[in-house]
Amino acid sequence: MQTHSFDVVIVGAGGAGMRAALEASNEASTAVISKLYPTRSHTGAAQGGMCAALANVEDDNWEWHTFDTVKGGDYLVDQDAAEVMAKEAIDAVMDLEHMGLPFNRTPDGKIDQRRFGGHTRNHGEAAVRRACYAADRTGHMILQTLYQNCVKQQVEFFNEFYVLDLLVDHDLSRDTIPEGEAVNAVGVVAYDLASGEIHIFQAKSVVFATGGAGKIFKTTSNAHTLTGDGMALALRRGIPLEDMEFFQFHPTGLAGLGILLSEAARGEGAILRNGNGERFMERYAPTIKDLAPRDIVARSMANEVREGRGAGPNKDYVLLDLTHLEPAHIDAKLPDITEFARTYLGVEPYTEPVPVYPTAHYAMGGIPTNINTEVLRDNEHVVRGLFAAGEVACVSVHGSNRLGTNSLLDINVFGKRAGRAAAEYAKTAQFIDVPGDAVDATVAKLEDMRTRPDGERVADVRRSLQEIMDRNAQVFRTHESLTEALDTIRQLQERYTRVSVQDKGKLFNTDLLEALELGFLLDLAEVVVVGALNRRESRGGHFREDFPDRDDAHYMQHTMVYRRPLAAGDATTDLVATDDLTDANAFDFVEAFDGYKLELGAKPVTVTRYEPMERKY
Ligand SMILES: Cc1cc2nc3c(=O)[nH]c(=O)nc-3n(C[C@H](O)[C@H](O)[C@H](O)COP(=O)(O)OP(=O)(O)OC[C@H]3O[C@@H](n4cnc5c(N)ncnc54)[C@H](O)[C@@H]3O)c2cc1C
Repeated sequence: MQTHSFDVVIVGAGGAGMRAALEASNEASTAVISKLYPTRSHTGAAQGGMCAALANVEDDNWEWHTFDTVKGGDYLVDQDAAEVMAKEAIDAVMDLEHMGLPFNRTPDGKIDQRRFGGHTRNHGEAAVRRACYAADRTGHMILQTLYQNCVKQQVEFFNEFYVLDLLVDHDLSRDTIPEGEAVNAVGVVAYDLASGEIHIFQAKSVVFATGGAGKIFKTTSNAHTLTGDGMALALRRGIPLEDMEFFQFHPTGLAGLGILLSEAARGEGAILRNGNGERFMERYAPTIKDLAPRDIVARSMANEVREGRGAGPNKDYVLLDLTHLEPAHIDAKLPDITEFARTYLGVEPYTEPVPVYPTAHYAMGGIPTNINTEVLRDNEHVVRGLFAAGEVACVSVHGSNRLGTNSLLDINVFGKRAGRAAAEYAKTAQFIDVPGDAVDATVAKLEDMRTRPDGERVADVRRSLQEIMDRNAQVFRTHESLTEALDTIRQLQERYTRVSVQDKGKLFNTDLLEALELGFLLDLAEVVVVGALNRRESRGGHFREDFPDRDDAHYMQHTMVYRRPLAAGDATTDLVATDDLTDANAFDFVEAFDGYKLELGAKPVTVTRYEPMERKY
């Protein structure tokens, strides 16, 4: 076992992690730990753009951007955070520009901008050109640019190191913290893929930037590695997760595959059509049609299919039509995604419409933070020295539905804030001793799994999880579908205790790591479903067919899920309680499972300028 000490340890080398590293390493000794080689992080797969009200091609301002973000998130957005993001967007784009990012240009040499879903002029009048982009490889350019600058600045990377535990001086999943006493981050435990060796990283500040968790679903745009590690590690230490029931289903995944075709296609003029050739979005969002926010478009598509107006032999998808666009325009603005349609579906987008269907895309929820990226352990207190930014975090700027291009922005704005805050904190903080038994539980678990002679297969358990989540917790949800999903997840949790791996070796044992990642997925799926069961309303990406309206009286609040040990005598509260809903009981049930329970709490939404209104486009 090796130990290291750094002022700041950043977990994750995607956009958020590397943007944080650029800030922190100016001021403090900084290490970045990543399970992937940095440029393989999912940020590199982002296609369409990063928004900022630069007003380079049309009148625009940050206040309109803030409003669109709040309305797009169906008013569950914390408005102070949205305001920070929209204001700091302009500098975030300029920072990247100065680092050398090759944005597309207008004829007079400014950064070009294009339309994207839900971004409008003057509070909804018409779609506005707010997304800065580099063809349909914006994320690739951001990731490469940040990495090159990290190399230039000699940031220290630990690549193909898997963080398997977060060390804190009070385990909140076990201990009650007396009023006035602080909880501090101590460091992390990591597993070196190449050698199988365990490393302890002691740190004054720890930044989690581990990205999303799309792999809880079968049909997803997310990379195989997006298994929600950071969220699950926080949950297991008793740190709450916020708003996990809100998952974004992106309208245009390649049908049957889930591979993403960016919203930039519709931003450049592509149109969605049903099996009858009708431009159905005119019925659902008369003003901005195909450029309505993703939750609305995804639901409209699923509805067309359910009502028998789908396309194809089984009428189970709709069509994205680019055939009226000039091939030269497609080649200049959308080269990669049109190539995906050719490669994976054998469809020629110049002349044929592309089969598409919603695909699990983005976790709106995550580890709760304040606008300075400090992690909250409840509604009032932070964990000192612990920060989170990017898709792993919930600030919350996306509320119940994220607008396209707001995530590449989020990772840059809050990544930068996290790096600064972590370095600043480290200036005055002291290292905290790592307890002698810090790695025992992690090592025991690894060894147990690696050496178990036979048992459940990882791929089988994972497939069952992903299938039930696709079937029962996707665009449409009901009490029945979610209860069935929860039952299945509990059975899978039980099977997971007997999981074994084929590779019994110590070097490059990816088999073993996939088994650990499956544990994270199961824990998070459970939180998603419990949150969804409790939220008996429809808002943003969470649509309950049995409660189709938004219910601000009871649910204009963030969901906080805490994992706690099950004490003797703990009662499992019934999940139903549909007819006696009061403000007081909307968030107070407990879900118990073998050895632990999930407790639900609520956190108020920060409202500054915009009172909730009906959401129409
Ligand atoms: C196909 C696709 C297209 C998209 N297009 C857009 C777009 O056009 N515009 C937009 O705004 N958003 C887009 N998004 C969303 C956006 O790209 C992501 O939300 C964002 O890039 C996430 O960045 P991140 O830094 O938080 O995480 P990631 O880029 O996912 O990085 C996570 C990092 O954490 C590390 N990590 C994870 N677990 C561990 C562990 N246990 N130990 C060590 N390291 C770990 C990984 O190695 C990785 O380096 C898109 C997403 C997808 C999937």
